[in-house]
Amino acid sequence: MDYKKVFQETINQLYTEKRYRVFADLEQIVGAFPHAVWHDGVESREITVWCSNDYLGMGQHPDIIQALCTAAGNTGVGAGGTRNISGTSHYLVELEEELADLHHKEASLVFTSGFISNEASISTIAQLLPDCLILSDELNHASMIEGIRRSGAEKQVFRHSDPNHLERLLKTAGQERAKLIVFESIYSMDGDIAPIREIADLAEKYNAMTYLDEVHAVGMYGVRGGGITDRDHLTERIDIIEGTLAKAYGSLGGYITGPRSIIDAVRCYAPGFIFTTALPPSIAAAATAAIRHLKKSQRERTLQQRQAKQTKDALISAGLPVMPSQTHIVPVFVGNPALCTKATDHLLRQHSIYIQAINYPTVSQGKERLRITPTPFHDDVLIRMLQHALLETWNAIGISDFNSSAAG
Ligand SMILES: *Cc1c(COP(=O)(O)O)cnc(C)c1O
Repeated sequence: MDYKKVFQETINQLYTEKRYRVFADLEQIVGAFPHAVWHDGVESREITVWCSNDYLGMGQHPDIIQALCTAAGNTGVGAGGTRNISGTSHYLVELEEELADLHHKEASLVFTSGFISNEASISTIAQLLPDCLILSDELNHASMIEGIRRSGAEKQVFRHSDPNHLERLLKTAGQERAKLIVFESIYSMDGDIAPIREIADLAEKYNAMTYLDEVHAVGMYGVRGGGITDRDHLTERIDIIEGTLAKAYGSLGGYITGPRSIIDAVRCYAPGFIFTTALPPSIAAAATAAIRHLKKSQRERTLQQRQAKQTKDALISAGLPVMPSQTHIVPVFVGNPALCTKATDHLLRQHSIYIQAINYPTVSQGKERLRITPTPFHDDVLIRMLQHALLETWNAIGISDFNSSAAG
């Protein structure tokens, strides 16, 4: 067995399919968001980032940086071990109180990432429920799919945001069987919002439990940043709300919130929580500061919504194929992996604009796109520059000819 050859061949396959991944080598500059320095191996230059999930620029907010530095100065860098073995940092306790309050839930539990929080929580909850049936939206994130797989529970996939299909599956399963509905509030590739109220109604009617990923909504929607459930007053209707500290909160980590008994069971049973070192106190302190800030301040949210709308309007008026989106996410349709990668390259080299190509398996084949995420810091001048750069790119590499009709 030529081990290395096996791996090289799998990589070659990606080249053939035009979806070999190259990471942009970037250096963020505090105070200059959304600009960053791009290193291409030969030269370094300043570029504008249009695809960060630090949606509100909180990762560079002076108060958040201060909170991180103060905590590190007071308690050091690392957590020193798993919470099970080495105790829980007081900063984590505070963070969990803040999160439970944010979502009006009894308790919360913090994990080392949003990915781990989904994988560990969904698998543990479904394992603890006898003969659990998981009902999963077909476009759920990879972390949720991993959690479902790990649980070993039976899974049925319902058509994306389709309550009628979900209801048929619930009806067939019957009232008595344990049922867990897992879905997201905002689907981050299309920017659409799930019919949360309808799904909660069905869960009530058929006695199912609900698990909602609000990763792309926390910090950004609702008067306190509690997500779409906060905005639409649906918090109480969902059993478990999951979120990340790494996107709008600009830090790192993931969490679940919900009834104390469920959170406590996950704390005691989930290997992905138990057997890994806790988040550093400084990261917890930074996240707490960001949550507290965004509980009170509407400024960032309002401005982000405005700039997202400005961006959509500017690109649509230029005739670019903006895909319909109900949220701050602005997807622009390409429909071909090679052209999508080429567009990213061209934008970076010719226009000093970074927008990562989104190819399979992040989206399905034929749905390749550029995913643009305007922040409060992408001002109207930057939006105009983006508009011109995209138009030039579309013509230069022939996307307009390849696909002249707008998507969806
Ligand atoms: C990014 C993402 C996650 C994972 O969150 P991390 O904190 O980045 O690990 C989970 N769910 C969805 C829908 C995501 O987009």
